[in-house]
Amino acid sequence: MKMLDAAARTVMERCDLLARYSEDADCLTRRYATVPLRQANDVVASWMLAAGMTVHHDYIGNVIGRYEGQASNARTMLFGSHLDTVCAAGKYDGILGVLVPLACVERLHKQGRRLPFAIEVLGFADEEGVRYHTAYLGSRAVAGTFDPAILRYLDDDGISMADAIRSFGGQPDPALLQTARWRPEALLGYCEVHIEQGPVLEAHDLPIGVVSSISGQHRYMLHFSGQAGHAGTVPMAMRHDALCAASEYILAVEALACQTSGLVATVGKLRVSPGASNVIPGYVSASLDVRHQDDEVLARVSTELRQQALRIGRERGVTVDWHAVQQNKTVPCSPYLSSLVRRAIEEESIPVYSLASGAGHDAVAMSDLTEVAMLFVRCKGGISHHADESVRTEDVAVSIRIVDRLLDHLCSMGG
Ligand SMILES: [Zn+2]
Repeated sequence: MKMLDAAARTVMERCDLLARYSEDADCLTRRYATVPLRQANDVVASWMLAAGMTVHHDYIGNVIGRYEGQASNARTMLFGSHLDTVCAAGKYDGILGVLVPLACVERLHKQGRRLPFAIEVLGFADEEGVRYHTAYLGSRAVAGTFDPAILRYLDDDGISMADAIRSFGGQPDPALLQTARWRPEALLGYCEVHIEQGPVLEAHDLPIGVVSSISGQHRYMLHFSGQAGHAGTVPMAMRHDALCAASEYILAVEALACQTSGLVATVGKLRVSPGASNVIPGYVSASLDVRHQDDEVLARVSTELRQQALRIGRERGVTVDWHAVQQNKTVPCSPYLSSLVRRAIEEESIPVYSLASGAGHDAVAMSDLTEVAMLFVRCKGGISHHADESVRTEDVAVSIRIVDRLLDHLCSMGG
């Protein structure tokens, strides 16, 4: 028990240390293929080497440590998460999913123990998509679903992704990026430890939870076109105020989400035109983000929200255009791997709590390759993507014990 607590303290110290590799002096920002990410990769690689792993950096820039199994033809269990961050990030989002399984490998190495299967720990180079506005670059390369067309994308400084990969030491060659793909039959699966990024585990006073699925997500853009006019001269009854229509719509979105179990819906971005205090708004664009773990519910709700937008527009003499931006399906977690995680939690005498992930994770991309499982660690106040992101050392210790037990259970299942 003591040794594991020491391992959790080491994980926490390493999170602190990695947080120093930042593009900003006063907060943590570590975007894809930047010098701070290179530094973080190198430090993680040194820890992997010290844990008895062989280490390589793949073409896209992921750092990958491999701990061999008893036989050279053994299958491989993958663990991982991302080492890039959002702007002004916290210290644990992503990083924890690399350092927790690494702690488990360190323990095996200290004991001189080999398992019937190999373990790889993957530090993905990009999940947040801050630099090129494309999520899951690292895990898509591993899953073999990388889209070569995005190599031409430019960042805000006009640097193409291909050039960024080259200067990072990778190779932006579509053929090489595709060959990085694993054969699925060589894998046992993929498991990701991640902070919850929500308040649910804390509210239930639980250190850890098992993820049932990663919710499907639909994103839309709505355009409300009414009639701009003088704020002083056009009577209320004669107005076609686009912002009033959008406002009525936003409250309708909230009402439907509150009535529908498991649904979250958000209008997070508005653009109001002409945007003057003495002019009736003639045009508004509004984003809409809708998530649910049941794709049928998501489709039904999306249809209903579209009809509501059109009805509100009709009643107010405002034209509404509706555009689908993105429609991601729900990713179910592996019943088999999740059952082993649940067993591990039970053995720790912790109530097993299942929850859907409302946020996307590398596991989404990895699910195209192999079975995935996810373990959520409680975080303070549900805060993430912020410097106040916080996890407890005791909870990290629990997550290490759960992954340890998961490895044991995989052994007893024959690898
Ligand atoms: Zn993350």
